[in-house]
Amino acid sequence: GDSKQFVDRLAAYAAEKLGVKFLFGTTVEGLDIEGDHVRAVMTSAGPVAGDAVVISMGPESGLLGRRYGIDLPVYPVKGYTATIPLEDESKGPTMGGADEDRLIGYSRLGNRLRMSSTAEFTGFDRTFKPADFKTIISTGKDLFPGAFDEKKAVFWAGLRPMMPNSVPVIGQARYKNLYLDTGHGHVGWTMACGSGKILADLVSGRKPEIDPQGLVYGG
Ligand SMILES: Cc1cc2nc3c(=O)[nH]c(=O)nc-3n(C[C@H](O)[C@H](O)[C@H](O)COP(=O)(O)OP(=O)(O)OC[C@H]3O[C@@H](n4cnc5c(N)ncnc54)[C@H](O)[C@@H]3O)c2cc1C
Repeated sequence: GDSKQFVDRLAAYAAEKLGVKFLFGTTVEGLDIEGDHVRAVMTSAGPVAGDAVVISMGPESGLLGRRYGIDLPVYPVKGYTATIPLEDESKGPTMGGADEDRLIGYSRLGNRLRMSSTAEFTGFDRTFKPADFKTIISTGKDLFPGAFDEKKAVFWAGLRPMMPNSVPVIGQARYKNLYLDTGHGHVGWTMACGSGKILADLVSGRKPEIDPQGLVYGG
């Protein structure tokens, strides 16, 4: 699947049908805490008050959480993707898969091929250079000869929000109205909808439809 297309359309749907307001390009700078609850989120656009606050900032979640006494050991693990238009669609894969020797995953996004790999510990550095994609490209050429022109590749690097035990953290933490939904590591998109469902149930005071045993912070 195309995760970018998914979130773009989900955001458009949420804004249009549910009245959700997104503050894009706004940085969270801290939390305004009063007693046992969070009064507001302090942002570059000013304070944003709310009934409930969810920390869901990818690998940066741990940095914010630890400032407020939450022992959240989320850490960044860097990975790379190359996305290339298929010159000859019949030579590309028809379904996703992996080269298990070279640890390269691949999937078909319409008429594009996306290949991903690597788990690097480089802190919060999101930079990349062409040499980082050598193995991805050579593996793609071996697996799908003649399918693409490597000069058209679009490169990207991102940070997976890993937990030491690979189990995400979903639930209330430390303050009455503060929640966590983070730490999904290398399968965060796959788990996003289920995690959101659990969190929505918890925030709304409902018994979660999906059993959250082992996922709730401190539980
Ligand atoms: C190379 C690679 C390949 C992957 N492949 C897959 C895959 O095939 N399937 C899959 O399910 N998952 C995959 N993942 C993992 C997936 O991308 C993550 O698990 C997922 O993105 C985590 O979602 P998240 O919303 O928790 O965090 P993120 O996607 O990291 O989102 C966090 C957001 O918080 C924002 N943010 C951080 N700090 C602040 C701040 N101070 N103020 C405001 N905003 C802030 C960030 O800008 C970002 O938009 C892959 C990851 C990588 C790197």
